[in-house]
Amino acid sequence: MPETVRCTWCSRKIIDAQPTGRRKKYCSHACRQRAYERRRLMSGTGVLQLEEDSVVVRRAELESLQDRLYVLRSAVEVLQAAVDDNANSAELVSVAREVVAATGDLDRLWISP
Ligand SMILES: [Zn+2]
Repeated sequence: MPETVRCTWCSRKIIDAQPTGRRKKYCSHACRQRAYERRRLMSGTGVLQLEEDSVVVRRAELESLQDRLYVLRSAVEVLQAAVDDNANSAELVSVAREVVAATGDLDRLWISP
């Protein structure tokens, strides 16, 4: 199974038609251009120097993500406890649904430019 490579700028999956040679870092010319402009904007300001693959996230967004991960972890712990307690299959199905619900769209989180 080929490794999923994501755009350094927008995190969309990169469909690399020619996987040989140098790996693509951006999904499109637009993303490459935005990354270049951001680097140019940030360089020389003396305020903040970022590595090319750095991401700046608002505290509220990070806290929201942490909250969702906490809910997911709690759901998984409930599932583990149900398994340890030899819960019947109906209970396990119910708890498993809670885990799926807690997962939500976490696997589809994208980094927006
Ligand atoms: Zn992109």
